[in-house]
This record gives sequence, structure tokens and C-alpha cells, in this order.
Amino acid sequence: MKAAILGATGLVGQRFVQLLNDHAWFEVTSLTGSERSVGSRYAAAVNWKMEKRLKKEVGELTVQPSEPKAIDADVVFSALPADQAKGTEEAFAKAGYAVVSNASTYRMEPDVPLMNPEANFDHLALIDEQRRKRKWDGAIVTDPNCTTAVLSLSLKPIYDTFGLKNVIMSSMQAVTGAGYPGVASLDIIDNIIPFIKDEEEKVQRETQKILGKAGKPAELNVSVSCHRVPVIDGHTEAVFVETEKAATPEQVAECMSNFRAQPQKLKLPTAPERPIVVRTEPDRPQPRLDRNEGHGMSVVVGRMRKDMVLDGVKYVALGHNTIRGAAGCAVLIAESMKSQGYI
Ligand code: NAP
Repeated sequence: MKAAILGATGLVGQRFVQLLNDHAWFEVTSLTGSERSVGSRYAAAVNWKMEKRLKKEVGELTVQPSEPKAIDADVVFSALPADQAKGTEEAFAKAGYAVVSNASTYRMEPDVPLMNPEANFDHLALIDEQRRKRKWDGAIVTDPNCTTAVLSLSLKPIYDTFGLKNVIMSSMQAVTGAGYPGVASLDIIDNIIPFIKDEEEKVQRETQKILGKAGKPAELNVSVSCHRVPVIDGHTEAVFVETEKAATPEQVAECMSNFRAQPQKLKLPTAPERPIVVRTEPDRPQPRLDRNEGHGMSVVVGRMRKDMVLDGVKYVALGHNTIRGAAGCAVLIAESMKSQGYI
């Protein structure tokens, strides 16, 4: 199937290009960028930051404007900034395209699925409601904010097995989470920035939407504090949870290790074998050592222990912010949509 990437020159756009190299189902046929890049060869327009080399054929593609008539594709991956996504993604859906978006713009609209596929595969059904309501043949499906993606996946088996009352989380977020060039080096080297605009509100409401039923957010309290740290890739999160039913650290670790969901059952190409990998060493997970677990799609959990304040457990979770937290999650969503006939 033919795949287009909107905002292909940015960090998430590049990650899409890399993940779709040799993908079993999707081939990159169209790339878009801002006025700065339109008309240039992709290889000339992009400041390539990925670990693997850019494939020659993709580098030769001409960067197009982000307009439906400029591209030819079966699925559209959007890595546009939120303000650019507004209107543009709708125009693509109206023109009949299935859009999988990384932008926050439409995430909280009730008829737009906000998907972390292992956590809420069944939310795909909202596409039917969206098509009916908005009278279009295309679709907009969104992936979560990078920090939410890591947190919600780690919470899903706990929520299903023991129920959740309260979740408190403190994040240590990589600089690539802010795009390129992102945070100035003089601001982040030898430093921690204890503020990321709108991030805490996004993580709180998105987690409730993902863990809830389609159209009905979960009733759990989520309180988070977000911080930018001098790490290139990989968001680390210290998580404290209060469960509804009593749960020991061993039981929680076991339900996380055993957790498998629809993408694993369907053997979707981007689904990691183990969505959550539990480490028992006292000093894991660490971004440099663990962010590429499951090709960047697994969340690595460690330091599982009893919490002395909340009636529950505390642990540390880590995930790759531009793979599980962005492009990888979006590709898995597109695979999920295809498996259910939505593409
Ligand atoms: P980025 O590195 O700043 O890239 C922005 C991209 O958008 C570039 O390709 C840029 O093209 C393009 N663009 C800007 N204005 C445009 C316009 N008017 N028309 C078409 N294209 C335009 O940002 P990023 O980190 O890749 O993030 C992209 C999106 O994903 C954002 O909505 C972000 O919030 C979301 N997201 C990011 C992460 C992460 O970890 N970084 C995680 C989850 C979600 P030019 O280069 O041609 O100017």
C-alpha cells in the first residue's frame, strides 16, 4: 500500500521514513513539508538525524505541499505541528484519506480514536461514528502524546487486573520530544527544565481517554509532573499507583510480563512480541540501554516495589519517544486499521 508522510522532514517525519523502509505492507510514495522544503528533493531538504542511512529512492522524492491533490496514497501519516494539522488533516479525511496523526489537534474529539493499540484496539470502532457524523469516507485517528504512550501502556494490565484509583507520575523526558532543533543546548546541558508547555494536562486527559471505553473516559485520578532532561531519546517515568483491588509488586510485575493484546494476536508487523518488558535489576530501565527494546516499541518497566503512601505499587517505566511515543505507534495503528478493513 502507498503511504504519504506529512511533515516528513521533522524528527517524527524522519522516524516514519526510517520505520517504513522495508515495511511489509507500506511503501513511502509521497512526502510533504513546509514552504521551506516544497519542490526540493527530500534528501536535500531534510537534516537527516536517524541512525540508519536514508534509502536512495526515498531521498529522490520531491517534497510536496500538504494538500490532498498533491499526493497519491492509501494511508497518510501526519507529523505536522498541531497548528498546521488543524484543517489540513480534515481536508485529507474529507478527500477520502485515512489519516493517522501524531498531532494533538484532534486527539480529544469524542469521535476521533486516540489509540495506543495494545491498550484500546476496540476504539477503532469510533471510525464508523466519525464517518457517519462528519459525512466523509476518510478518517482521522490519532496516537497519544509520547509521555502518555509510555504511561498508558504500562497501566493497561494493572487497570484490567486490579482496577486503578489514583496514578501519580513524574517524567524525565528526552530532548527529541521537542522536535528539531528543539531545546537550545545552552538551556539543557548540565540542566533539567521542570516545565513542558501543556504536557501535564495532555498526559492526564489522554490517559483517561485511552484506558476508558470508546466514548467514555476512565474514572481514575491522574496527576503528573513533566521535566525535560539531557537525554537524546527515551522518556523515563516514575509511576505511583493506587489500585482498587489489593495487588503485590510481584502480582503487578507478573500481569505486566504476561500482557499481550490484539496486535500480538494478529501478529501485526510492528507489534513487539512483548509490549511490556519487566526488568528485575535494581538499576534498570535506563534510556541508553533500554530504549530500543522491541525495536523501540516495548515499554521497559523496572524497580517494581510496594508504595508506602498509596495503597499500591510504584515502578519506573521507559519508552522510546519517537517510536512507541510517535511514529511506531502510528504505524501500528495503521496496521490495526488495515487488519479491520478501515484502510
Ligand atoms: P519538528 O521536528 O519540528 O518537525 C516539524 C515538521 O512539520 C517539519 O517536517 C516541517 O517541515 C513541517 N511543517 C512545519 N510547518 C509546516 C507547514 N506549514 N506545512 C507543512 N509542513 C510543515 O517536529 P516533530 O518532533 O517531528 O513533531 C511533529 C508532530 O508530532 C508535532 O505535532 C508533535 O507535537 C508531534 N509529536 C512529537 C513527538 C516527539 O517525540 N518528537 C512525539 C509525539 C508527537 P519543514 O522542515 O519543511 O519546515
